[in-house]
Amino acid sequence: MSGTLKEHCGVVGIYNHPEAANLAYLGLYALQHRGQESAGILSLDGNKMFIEKGMGKVADVINQARLAQLPGSAAIGHVRYSTSGESSLAESQPLMAKYASGTIGITHNGNLINAERIRSLLVEDGSIFQSTTDSEVIVHLIARSRAAGFAQRVIDSLSKIEGAYSLIFLTETQMIGTRDPHGFHPLALGRIGDGYCIVSETCAMDLIGATLIREIDPGEMVIIDETGIKSFRPFPSQKTRFCVFEYIYFARPDSTIHGLNVHMVRKEFGRQLARESAVDADVVISIPDSGTSAALGYAEESGIPYDIGMIRNRYVGRTFIEPKQSIRHFGVKLKLNPVKELLSGKRVIVIDDSIVRATTSKKIVSLIRGVGAREIHLRISSPPTCFSCYYGIDTPTRQELIASSHTKDQICSYVEADSLEYISVEGMRRSVGPMGDKICDACFTGDYPLPVKEEHFVQLRLFDSI
Ligand code: SF4
Repeated sequence: MSGTLKEHCGVVGIYNHPEAANLAYLGLYALQHRGQESAGILSLDGNKMFIEKGMGKVADVINQARLAQLPGSAAIGHVRYSTSGESSLAESQPLMAKYASGTIGITHNGNLINAERIRSLLVEDGSIFQSTTDSEVIVHLIARSRAAGFAQRVIDSLSKIEGAYSLIFLTETQMIGTRDPHGFHPLALGRIGDGYCIVSETCAMDLIGATLIREIDPGEMVIIDETGIKSFRPFPSQKTRFCVFEYIYFARPDSTIHGLNVHMVRKEFGRQLARESAVDADVVISIPDSGTSAALGYAEESGIPYDIGMIRNRYVGRTFIEPKQSIRHFGVKLKLNPVKELLSGKRVIVIDDSIVRATTSKKIVSLIRGVGAREIHLRISSPPTCFSCYYGIDTPTRQELIASSHTKDQICSYVEADSLEYISVEGMRRSVGPMGDKICDACFTGDYPLPVKEEHFVQLRLFDSI
């Protein structure tokens, strides 16, 4: 419900299974929360690749007839929310391209911070791009690489790339999964029947009946072919900086990432928040769904009962006919409705996962006040979001992030809550246990793991090879 932060993409790959496309379809279903703008599946049958993709959610795009057009024993799939490039069919993935040595399919979760610069160099050198997506830059680099063999071409190309990537490639003879050296976004490897799968989140494996082998490590490349699995670490090692927002908000609570179940991590955020910002109240409620795990943790730690105080309408579509101004807070009301009989006359602790622009929080506080709550104490299970993301998460500009220019008290008075507290950065790090020093928390601290200004990029190597 934070509304304005969105995950970039979800990816899935199936190798050596007679129902590859069907399983990719189901895997995408489980990963739908990672992107709702477009969906697509590419399959491999013999030496031939087939692709079906379109704008919308998985169920809108892939129907029985389209699935029937995706034969073969290997497939890769993608759901997308655009944070780089435009939002159109040309930008949707998987991307498929023919080059001198064959055909490649590619799916990408993340954001390349030097893609624009590389694209300009490639265009100056005669390359023609079909889309605005940064992932196409990788395809061009692979096609132009002079390295021997596809895996070496991938390594050669990715060594020119800066940014966040969890990638799956499919060629006529192999599937490759790889994660950037910082490991910003998740990627896991599993076994299904006699074959293998690679998915963004383990919840996709649960649905398709796969068994988790392990998560793919930051900087690792896994090659799957008819001989089995091989693992390489071709990139210089870097400190792991996994996106902590995956734990806070993006990932599904039933997924396990870096060995930690997301729901349990969120509960720990809630417990820590209760320890840091106790307040007398009658009930703890959450902004569903991502605030719910933290609210349960907060209630457990504080001893104040948790209850369902906001009901979410799960059937809100992409478009609706807006009423005239006469209905206040229409957009939020469409999605959330407070339970009047529970909240009226009560002192209420409201747990949300983040505050971005604070316009949604203000409307939520107003809705709860409107049903007669006596006090409203807003508790946020992430620290103040002060900085933008450049690694695959759609955040507004820094100016639009209210915490970048307003104090906590100013935000509290803007949203008209009785009190407002955030989890501390230290508390957040403590809550992720062994991952505490392996997370990216730049949107709270400004401590960016990779340079974010174009002039910081070292391009000489790139010029050499082009
Ligand atoms: S800047 Fe924030 S949203 Fe972006 S990768 Fe880092 S923690 Fe995640």
